[in-house]
Amino acid sequence: MATLLAGKPVVERMALDLGARIHALKEAGVVPTLALVRVGARPDDLSYERTAAKRAETLDIAVRSIALDEFAPQQAVEAAVRDVSCDEGIHGCLLFRPLPSFVNEARVCELLAPEKDVDGITLASLGSVFTDGHTGFPPCTAAACIEMLDHYDVPLVGKHVVVVGRSLVVGKPVSMMLLRRNASVTICHSKTEHLEDICREADIVICATGRARAFGAAYFSPGQTVLDVGINFDTHGKLCGDVAFDEVEPVVGAITPVPGGIGTVTTSVTMAHTVQAAEAAQATAEEPSSGYASPWC
Ligand code: NAP
Repeated sequence: MATLLAGKPVVERMALDLGARIHALKEAGVVPTLALVRVGARPDDLSYERTAAKRAETLDIAVRSIALDEFAPQQAVEAAVRDVSCDEGIHGCLLFRPLPSFVNEARVCELLAPEKDVDGITLASLGSVFTDGHTGFPPCTAAACIEMLDHYDVPLVGKHVVVVGRSLVVGKPVSMMLLRRNASVTICHSKTEHLEDICREADIVICATGRARAFGAAYFSPGQTVLDVGINFDTHGKLCGDVAFDEVEPVVGAITPVPGGIGTVTTSVTMAHTVQAAEAAQATAEEPSSGYASPWC
């Protein structure tokens, strides 16, 4: 029977740490504040907005919800993000994506000040992930995978990690973050040949493909650690991951559940990034020579 890598203990440990830091910020007169920018009212955006707002409330992080009409033109979306970048009372921003097809998403993302880019959507943040830099933040889901592995003391140095999926939200950034931690990483995708064999050889397998229960027992071997990033619905409308949990769990050494795994930790990472952004803003404001003006305003 595999060890269950549940998200709840990770979230609870993070909440303890964040609680102390948020208290210190409030003592200094700073209320960490997260902006949630949504265009339209897609059910999954609304659902994530509720989850994020609830987690923020639990931690005493303020939330500003900015909701734009589903037909909001490019100019209006750009103006909303520019306002967030310039508002000194906002420390972090989550922009729900994808934006409607008639909005140039890349242009909108680049209007977000990297210091508020808590979900790694700007080129500056992503550039840092790929160059081991310190600008902005990595995407929250990728960071949640690392947080999960660290919480459960899963060794990374010299280990072979297979990442299935190469998106800029999960697959590529988590691969770079693992490389930074001295793991040896193989990145796979829909055109990879012999995927079952490649996965079976790994110490750690991270599945981020968006294919409901597509990874059965044939992909895994005893002792492996499996992170299931997928958030999918099966043909009965039931929430499930990319991994066929019931048949894989008896084979591997440790596995994350869906729900209750990576997704749970992701929301906490968003909050942690917001607190870190608030701390950085406060430190900048306290610098004696601080005539700092964001180039995004
Ligand atoms: P995405 O942009 O659609 O990327 C999916 C990746 O999977 C692509 O690189 C694709 O390969 C690869 N893929 C698709 N079919 C494959 C196959 N048969 N064999 C091997 N690789 C295959 O998705 P995403 O945004 O990265 O999200 C992936 C999953 O994670 C989704 O279920 C999403 O809901 C979930 N997710 C969870 C969280 C969380 O907090 N837990 C956050 C974000 C996303 P190609 O590049 O060749 O097309």
